[in-house]
Amino acid sequence: MQQSPRDNDLRGAEVITDPKGDRKRRANEQDDPDLYVRIVERREDGIVVRGAKLHITAASLVHELVVMPTKGMRPEEADYAVSFSIPVNTPGVSIINRSFAPAELNEFDYPASSHHSMPEGFVVFDDVFVPWDRVFLAGEVELASVLARSLGLWERTGGLVESVRNGELYIGLAQLVSEMQGKDKDPVVQSSLSELIVYQEMIRMGLDYACEHYETSQPSGMVFPNTLAVNATKYYLAANFHQTIKYLHDLAGGLVITVPMEADLRNEESGKFIRKYLYTRKDVDIEARMRVYNLIRDLTADAYGGWWFVVALQSGGGLPAQRTMMNRTFDMEKAKAAARKAAGIS
Ligand SMILES: Cc1cc2nc3c(=O)[nH]c(=O)nc-3n(C[C@H](O)[C@H](O)[C@H](O)COP(=O)(O)OP(=O)(O)OC[C@H]3O[C@@H](n4cnc5c(N)ncnc54)[C@H](O)[C@@H]3O)c2cc1C
Repeated sequence: MQQSPRDNDLRGAEVITDPKGDRKRRANEQDDPDLYVRIVERREDGIVVRGAKLHITAASLVHELVVMPTKGMRPEEADYAVSFSIPVNTPGVSIINRSFAPAELNEFDYPASSHHSMPEGFVVFDDVFVPWDRVFLAGEVELASVLARSLGLWERTGGLVESVRNGELYIGLAQLVSEMQGKDKDPVVQSSLSELIVYQEMIRMGLDYACEHYETSQPSGMVFPNTLAVNATKYYLAANFHQTIKYLHDLAGGLVITVPMEADLRNEESGKFIRKYLYTRKDVDIEARMRVYNLIRDLTADAYGGWWFVVALQSGGGLPAQRTMMNRTFDMEKAKAAARKAAGIS
């Protein structure tokens, strides 16, 4: 049979985060040894693995589960230094799925969630056989953290791209909602808008810098975004997101979460009151005003918005993961030399 490009257009999920049990203890020190994915049997034709990976975005939608350790492993944790890729329907794999929004949400009330809903999978490996030709690591502890670290950079870069796109929307929505209420020239509104702009521009500039000052891996010559810039910008994004969004909520007012539903707008009896009391000025269309509020709510205070509130912090690893990478990649010798010179120390 002739192959189509679609046949080779395989999608993989990044399957990294283990349940991790007691965070103070190593993988091999947990009460239940399966709290990190591990090899339970080595055979001539492959390995058998057991464990689970949590929060796996789109696990149930992809072709392949690309599994790797969540962190570095020590020699006594050799069974946990395991990485492989298997089809999602491999016997022994099960996925407990959840999504932040049901599929039937309507587009008027949920302009973001009705399009962006993404299932997250709680992926269980219950004695899953993996043949050798699908195994990347089986005990090579010195390489355990390399794969996750490399993917983390791309995951954080993706987060920056999404954030730049959303940031522009937050500013546009803040301006629109203020104009519709006739308060866009107010100095307090102007100051809130500038807070949203500075957040957006810092992330956009960080992303631009990371791409312009890319790095090159050796010996392959593959390029990747600047590691320090991506981590510093993702850290800024995560550390400042929640207090920045409050400016949009403050500008928009209570209607963010109380604007009536589309069904009530279309209902003759309630619709006439909604049109009467959501009126601001002749040139402001009531339905457009409701759409602006619905998008603010859905992007920042409802299904998609609630999801993004946690994703901003945790996706690609929480704040400590970026701190570690910044400390590792910053040119400390150069900074020390500058400090020595400025202090007059030889
Ligand atoms: C919507 C969503 C999608 C995701 N998608 C994916 C995905 O596709 N693939 C994937 O592999 N992962 C995914 N993740 C997982 C994400 O990378 C993790 O949530 C993140 O790394 C934090 O790990 P955790 O959830 O296990 O929380 P924890 O490990 O409990 O970490 C939470 C915080 O606890 C603190 N902490 C942790 N350990 C210690 C310690 N030993 N001592 C002191 N403090 C500590 C840190 O401050 C840390 O930031 C996703 C997460 C979310 C929310």
